Amino acid sequence: MGVVAGGLVWVLLDTARAMRVLQWLRQDNVTAIPVSRGLWGEVSQRVRRLVRSGEQETKASEARLQAFLAALQASPNGLVLLDVQGRIEWFNQTAAAHFGFDTQRDLLQHFVNLVRDPGFTRYYAEGDFSAPIVMPGRDHTLARPVRLSVHIHPYGEGRQLLLSRDVTQFEQADAMRRDFVANVSHEIRTPLTVISGFVETLQTLPLDEVERARYLELMAQQAQRMQTLVNDLLVLSRLEGSPLPSETEWVGVPRLLQYLENEGRALSTVLNEASAPVHHLIFDVSQDLDISGAHSELQSAMSNLISNAIRYTPNGGELRVQWRRAEDGRAEFSVTDTGPGIAPEHISRLTERFYRVDRSRSRDTGGTGLGLAIVKHVAQRHGAELKIESTLGKGSRFAIVFPAARVRTRRSD
Ligand code: ADP
Repeated sequence: MGVVAGGLVWVLLDTARAMRVLQWLRQDNVTAIPVSRGLWGEVSQRVRRLVRSGEQETKASEARLQAFLAALQASPNGLVLLDVQGRIEWFNQTAAAHFGFDTQRDLLQHFVNLVRDPGFTRYYAEGDFSAPIVMPGRDHTLARPVRLSVHIHPYGEGRQLLLSRDVTQFEQADAMRRDFVANVSHEIRTPLTVISGFVETLQTLPLDEVERARYLELMAQQAQRMQTLVNDLLVLSRLEGSPLPSETEWVGVPRLLQYLENEGRALSTVLNEASAPVHHLIFDVSQDLDISGAHSELQSAMSNLISNAIRYTPNGGELRVQWRRAEDGRAEFSVTDTGPGIAPEHISRLTERFYRVDRSRSRDTGGTGLGLAIVKHVAQRHGAELKIESTLGKGSRFAIVFPAARVRTRRSD
């Protein structure tokens, strides 16, 4: 009887413990064990250990996933993951900026419904993803073009990874290169056409000595024009390809300007087929001021500004060349003329290659349209600033301002 009663009590107690363990398992929190001893105690502890290690694994894989997504977020390219139906599963910030996506609004939307560019729609429908396509970006306008390269890469079972890249600058550089080649070809073709026309004339027509001499003179002029152009092109390509000018090599600017003054007087004379300079040239030069840099580049830039002033200023005009130290320690080279001046809308474009305001005056005086592009390049390479001020009908002032770090005052003893 006693044994039966004892057995019953044990069964009741055991069932109560089992119920406590079961209740404990039903809740989410498994920290406090309901029973610590005996069979149910061991069961509880083992369960708790299993749950804990499961939780740790979940946390670790969650951290790995977050690190992975952070890396994808950091990508400079736009990334979009599409599911089997072409719906957006995930995208990074760059893609959001490229396509104007919003995390709240656009997840699980069909990509093709959101990006409504006819070129892209065709690309997506045709399903040939061997190459990317280029399409306008979300902020694209005619004034400020934005171009995106978009490439789809299928992966997994029917999923797609879409990569987008901003190629605006790349495309602009490409367009500039194309324009440049077209411009150079055009500039060379014109004198070549003239020369070959004259050669034909000389070959076919019986000309007298005076006519022959005149044709040869015109041919020489055109050949000279091509030579000047090729020289300027070489100067530009050297500027682009060579290392930055030295900061420790000193250029004696006063001496250089003495040379350029003689050159300027000669140009003013020869261009106008006169016997003396037809412009009033004033050189106002601080005799003790030098700068560090590349002699040939500085000569080319200064000479271009002086020759422009001479070429565009009518006879009798005045040209003032100044070389002085500014109050802030910088040094300024400036050329001021009393020429025709330049309308404000042209000023920001003057340093573009082949940009000319007055085409015929430029050509007649041996201009290539590359002079100010060279000046700007040289200035940039010396850390200097090119300033252009001009008033129509009054004249222009071109100045190169060199940083104080490149300026040195010689002791004049
Ligand atoms: P170019 O060989 O045609 O002179 P530049 O690059 O030196 O080429 O100059 C670009 C254009 O800027 C010139 O074609 C001319 O229209 C204008 N320009 C340059 N310097 C002057 C100046 N001193 N006065 C008036 N116009 C100028």
